[in-house]
Amino acid sequence: MNEYDIVIIGGGPAGLSAAIYALRADKKVLVLESKACGGRIVAARDIQNYPGMMGVSGYELAKKMQAQVEELGGEIRYERAMGIKDKVVCTDGGSYKAKAIILATGAENRKLGIYGEDQFVGKGVSYCATCDGSLYKDKNVAVVGGGNTALEDAIYLAGVAKKVYVIHRRSEFRGDKADIKKMNDFSNIEVILSANAREILGEEKVTGIVVDVDGEEREIKVDAIFMAIGYEPQAGEFANSVELDGDGYIKTRDGVHTSAEGIYVAGDARKKDLKQLVTAVSDGAIAATTAIKEME
Ligand SMILES: Cc1cc2nc3c(=O)[nH]c(=O)nc-3n(C[C@H](O)[C@H](O)[C@H](O)COP(=O)(O)OP(=O)(O)OC[C@H]3O[C@@H](n4cnc5c(N)ncnc54)[C@H](O)[C@@H]3O)c2cc1C
Repeated sequence: MNEYDIVIIGGGPAGLSAAIYALRADKKVLVLESKACGGRIVAARDIQNYPGMMGVSGYELAKKMQAQVEELGGEIRYERAMGIKDKVVCTDGGSYKAKAIILATGAENRKLGIYGEDQFVGKGVSYCATCDGSLYKDKNVAVVGGGNTALEDAIYLAGVAKKVYVIHRRSEFRGDKADIKKMNDFSNIEVILSANAREILGEEKVTGIVVDVDGEEREIKVDAIFMAIGYEPQAGEFANSVELDGDGYIKTRDGVHTSAEGIYVAGDARKKDLKQLVTAVSDGAIAATTAIKEME
């Protein structure tokens, strides 16, 4: 069986950053990636908030991160990790022993599943207000959702866009009272409750959304729709090895240690307020340096 100092599960920004730090510390590193290196950022058309890389596409940035890992001598295998037993990671292609394991499996955006959603991703449909909000300065936008993320997105967008519609399927919000109050103070936010989003309209890009409000159909003209209905952490395979919280995120007391010795977490796979590139790569660096310190 192949043995490594560190096996990193997930080749997104967190996993690749962890790999760079571990390789520069002269460790033998394996990155396991089930799809494509770069993770969720590959879907970003135009990154505006990553220091030093203004206007780069997610694909381009992912390729550069991957090349950096390869140049430093890191091994990347395109296999899905299925579980961990006694510091051995089992995948759909083999088994790999490690002194330390970093879980960097990320979290997928939950989808609404309505007509037009997939078609208009990157053309008006966004899952990240902090990433794409500035593209809609002085435009009309909608936020779909009723939890904390939706409220925070609406407040953030109200400072950028001309008008923000907040579309929520229930009759009241689930998010923090303080954020609800703050949102209500913005004159350019219109809340539409008991409203089910039905269809996204547009040709080349988004032009509107159709909602069903108490049984009546309403068409709202917007240039962008921000989906804020939550995330699905991708950590289910490791539930027998590390503790997960009620939402499926990997539990951590300090942002890096999991409940199991020698297994660390980095990036969106742990619960945090800001799911972004900068926080993911920061997590990866901290997880790798902590793992190295503790294995020596
Ligand atoms: C459309 C879009 C645009 C965005 N734009 C920006 C932006 O402009 N700026 C910004 O800062 N952030 C942006 N983000 C957010 C950013 O992409 C994420 O916060 C970041 O990618 C998280 O990195 P991560 O490595 O923790 O997780 P991920 O990027 O989710 O990577 C996790 C990786 O692990 C792999 N994986 C999962 N399970 C397994 C397994 N069992 N075995 C092997 N591999 C596995 C997945 O295939 C994936 O490649 C955007 C996100 C999206 C979706």
